[in-house]
Amino acid sequence: MTFNELGLSEAIVRAVTEHGYTIPTPIQVQAIPAVLAGGDLLAGAQTGTGKTAGFTLPILQRLSSTGMRPGARHVRALILTPTRELAAQVEESVRTYGKHVKLSSAVIFGGVNINPQIDRLRGGIDILVATPGRLLDHMQQNTIDLSKVEILVLDEADRMLDMGFIKDIRRVLKALPPKRQNLLFSATFSDEIKTLADGLLNAPAMIEVARRNSTVEIIAQKVHPVDRDKKHPLLSNLIKSNGWSQVLVFTRTKHGANKLVEQLGHDGISGMAIHGNKSQAARTRALAEFKDGSLQVLVATDIAARGIDIDQLPHVVNYDLPNIPEDYVHRIGRTGRAGATGEAVSLVCVDEHDMLKDIERLIKRTLPREVVAGFEPDPNARAQPIQLRSGQGRPGGGGGGRSTRAPSRSTSGSSRATSGASRASNGNSRAPSGGDVDGNRIERAAPPSPGTRSAPARRSGGRGR
Ligand code: AMP
Repeated sequence: MTFNELGLSEAIVRAVTEHGYTIPTPIQVQAIPAVLAGGDLLAGAQTGTGKTAGFTLPILQRLSSTGMRPGARHVRALILTPTRELAAQVEESVRTYGKHVKLSSAVIFGGVNINPQIDRLRGGIDILVATPGRLLDHMQQNTIDLSKVEILVLDEADRMLDMGFIKDIRRVLKALPPKRQNLLFSATFSDEIKTLADGLLNAPAMIEVARRNSTVEIIAQKVHPVDRDKKHPLLSNLIKSNGWSQVLVFTRTKHGANKLVEQLGHDGISGMAIHGNKSQAARTRALAEFKDGSLQVLVATDIAARGIDIDQLPHVVNYDLPNIPEDYVHRIGRTGRAGATGEAVSLVCVDEHDMLKDIERLIKRTLPREVVAGFEPDPNARAQPIQLRSGQGRPGGGGGGRSTRAPSRSTSGSSRATSGASRASNGNSRAPSGGDVDGNRIERAAPPSPGTRSAPARRSGGRGR
């Protein structure tokens, strides 16, 4: 199958070919004709499958072939994404694939001055990529007209719901004309996603694909057991002794990310942190330097890293294990893209043994343990509760409303889709997060009992304004 055979115009196929793609991925094979046909679409696909081109290519095709409405330019396609990074990347794809067609695009997200965005919108935009929070700001200020939107895309809809954007999305929907094409992309199908899809989509085509790279199979993964206070020297040791030049490191909290960058700096290792407290300019700069190889280590929290797309990233380190087992799969999915082999290592201390068990249950395999000489963990070390909230050092007791994960608690009952092999096509519900991976408050209804499903954790704040 070629891009030509999918019904795309010469101008679009040329841009795709120039970008180096010759064979469409499975999601593209299914999504492109479905979107070109003009109907609604419900697609089960996660980052790494090529889903972005799956919707941007046919959108460019449809908008360029139907031509502009006479008069002022209005937003004709609106793409909503959960994070700023993802919004920026999607818009970059729109520009890349649309370089031979006459359509204009823009991206709007929070954390940066709104005025240049207002100017950009005033100039007329065909395709707008936005995070919900900042889009609402524009709607409130009447600096955007969404009344002529022909195509709406909700990208990573499950993430948007996880991040508490449902009300914002509903407000945006009210500003759109009733007659339009709706495309919903989601990695999972919780009841909440199904409700959203039911209300939004009209007789949708339904497609679902496994990850392009079945992460769990192609990425070399290992665990280095280590004491909690030896993680930083172990990481420096691994980076130096293995000559790692481009490493993405995940920490659980923003505070942890900052501290680690400082510690690595003392060891002569260049690093920067990206997380919700960093300005957008700082995040963009860190990402650019990391991508071009001038920055050796990028330290990120899960939320900030969402949607980061770095081709051929060789090393991912879980400095802290994620509290949500599914985030492990998302994290390591950053490496080994596009057929490249990647390596993911996890530095695991005694406090995290239950988290590791949860992860291994989810990915249905036991990860190999490898103790690094000189960093042997103390066999008598006792587990301590993990501080999940940013800015509060760990370990330490609970109390004072702190968010902790008790060493014995297990988040079994999670059934979120993961690799192609273990992926369930329906009825997935997100495991309770029990805490805050990016330092934002999470409201939890009732403590989950092992083996039962519970409502998705609701994140408040931290939106893409
Ligand atoms: P996505 O799932 O949209 O985030 O895309 C994941 C990665 O696959 C990105 O690095 C894309 O540039 C890349 N990609 C998308 N489509 C293709 C294709 N047809 N051939 C090769 N790589 C692709």
